[in-house]
Amino acid sequence: MNYLFSHRRYRLPLRTAVRTAHGAWAEREGVIVRLEGEDGAVGFGEAAVIPWFGTETVDEVEVACREFGGRVDDARLDGVPTRLRCLRNALAAARSEMAEARKNPERRVRDNAPYLPVAALLPAGRAVLAQIAPKAEVGFRVFKWKVGVGDVADELALLDDVCAALPTGAKLRLDANGAWDRRRAERWLERCAERPVEFVEQPIAAEGKGAVDLLMGLAGDFPTPLALDESVASDGEVERWIGAGWPGIFVIKPSLLGDVAGTLARLETAKACVVFSSALETAVGARAALRVAFAWRGEPDSTRSTGSGQAGEQRALGFGVWPLFTDGRFDGPHAAPFVRAEDVERIDVESLWNALS
Ligand code: MG
Repeated sequence: MNYLFSHRRYRLPLRTAVRTAHGAWAEREGVIVRLEGEDGAVGFGEAAVIPWFGTETVDEVEVACREFGGRVDDARLDGVPTRLRCLRNALAAARSEMAEARKNPERRVRDNAPYLPVAALLPAGRAVLAQIAPKAEVGFRVFKWKVGVGDVADELALLDDVCAALPTGAKLRLDANGAWDRRRAERWLERCAERPVEFVEQPIAAEGKGAVDLLMGLAGDFPTPLALDESVASDGEVERWIGAGWPGIFVIKPSLLGDVAGTLARLETAKACVVFSSALETAVGARAALRVAFAWRGEPDSTRSTGSGQAGEQRALGFGVWPLFTDGRFDGPHAAPFVRAEDVERIDVESLWNALS
């Protein structure tokens, strides 16, 4: 098949700079691609690069897009090097959107779930305490608190106040973004046992020496589940941790995978526990990522006696990020305790594309 190809690069200031291990992240850069088939079907995709997560740079995406010129065919698209994984992701999303439009022209939502729960994001440090009640009031029941930002003793001292402020039955996720060493991680994990902590995300840095052994050891030594995020930012890393028999959760940012369908199939075969998460993409990438989340069958439910293959509950999404951009036209559905499949399908990518012209 031949396509008309076009792309638009964007650079969008964030409403609030995001603190990362690599400094403040104040504006998001990426590229939106548009494919139009000979039959008039149109698909969009987003290369939402995060170079410090090991993806290509936005310049590399742009160079490859320029090389396409205005016309491409399937062989050309398939030939994009795997190094350009966000571009491959964008092109696959655009093509799958076109294929879906042919199969299902009315765009009926026919996913596994009509809606999925979303986790509320809580700020680091003492500021967390004032944020829980208003979020609980609007209905959030899963909360994610950034830790590993301040002093360990200060943060640990806050943990009980945070737990006490949670509504009954609520769960707390802790995200250390790899900030701890083994000793600090152990102090936290001892404290988390018997508290309503759903999991501790990336307690140890992904790239440190012996990180795999350390993370596997911690996962085996403490009852609180651990989640990998920075450790599984690419298809190859997901594969490696499946192979290592990771017993915890995989935090998957679909926008950063070069082969979303293949990697998700691997996770499903491995009966992995998956939490889908935002890569702070625009609504174009978010729509593709959320479609992936809605298509996921949820956690394998070992409590059902009817055997394997049954879809269970899905864990809350890490998509409570909007409003994100200074220019709200690029945002996905605003943070609410649930996101509905209908709202995902209602995202107007065409007008976002036009806003970039
Ligand atoms: Mg994380």
